[in-house]
Amino acid sequence: MSSTSPAADVTTLPLGGGAGRGVQETDGRSLGTVVHGELISEGLDVPTAPPRRTGAGLAGLEVSHLDRSEKFAMMRAGELGSVHSWELVTAVDGPGTRMTVFLNGCPLRCLYCHNPDTLEMKDGEPVTADQLLTRIKRYVPAFTATQGGLTISGGEVLQQPAFAARLLRGAKEMGVHTAIDTSGFLGAAMTDEMIADTDLVLLDIKSGDPDIYRRVTKRELQPTLDFGRRLARSGLKGGVDPDDPVEVWLRFVLVPGLTDDVRNVDLVADYAAELNQIRPGTVTRVEVLAFHNMGVDKWETLGREYELKNTPPPTPELLERVREQFRSRGLTTY
Ligand code: SF4
Repeated sequence: MSSTSPAADVTTLPLGGGAGRGVQETDGRSLGTVVHGELISEGLDVPTAPPRRTGAGLAGLEVSHLDRSEKFAMMRAGELGSVHSWELVTAVDGPGTRMTVFLNGCPLRCLYCHNPDTLEMKDGEPVTADQLLTRIKRYVPAFTATQGGLTISGGEVLQQPAFAARLLRGAKEMGVHTAIDTSGFLGAAMTDEMIADTDLVLLDIKSGDPDIYRRVTKRELQPTLDFGRRLARSGLKGGVDPDDPVEVWLRFVLVPGLTDDVRNVDLVADYAAELNQIRPGTVTRVEVLAFHNMGVDKWETLGREYELKNTPPPTPELLERVREQFRSRGLTTY
């Protein structure tokens, strides 16, 4: 769920082992970081993907030669996924150093989407779960040292639930911390087993008001609300993982003139507090993400109109007001 991220340090690490390490200020994703190696050459019998985010890649992942029907059968089984790219990041997408995998396909159409090139599944590259897990295995020492792990993002991770389930299971078998970054709109596709295999959900709530949510995403809010409540209940006694309950980091993108209404923010904050009433300790962090329109170039490259072209980023005062709305409910907020 690639919406927008807070300005954060993204650490560039050598993926092939060896080379240097650098740090750059970025929006967390779109200027991203890690690229070694080549793209996969074989497509899904669909048009070639549009330009990728600078610095993101599919380094070293290859897929065997399969015909179209074999690929679709593998995708249904979750053995093959449509993947945009992956990268190693620090201080975004969860704790520690993380391998964030961006899947293709998303049912939402957020006005501020920073990665419109991830929206269609057909634009991704075919990568097997085994290939990704082999890659993840290489970084287990780094994950262990930094208390990091795997984050599956997108696009929308739950648009490919079977593939995500395999990655989550495989990572857990290696003892790797797991996170998904999701809008929650397809939360019904996340099985109890997947919840049990997930340590952290980055739950992106675009609005607390259903009408504003619809305006921002072209979709309905209710499935996201239902999903969050299910996550909270899953950690209760008798739930799917009461001994190791899933943690939630709630993310809210603050867009002046669109999502900044006091009542709208109150609704999101009340919801976060409600999750902690269902199960104390569910929402351990709230991230208020400042809108910026750095994604505009991609929209124009794709020939789409970017409606928020003239929308300014929130002022520090507005950010503080909104963060305070969350903090006043006892929520740890950044
Ligand atoms: S359209 Fe999809 S990928 Fe883009 S910000 Fe919204 S949820 Fe994320």
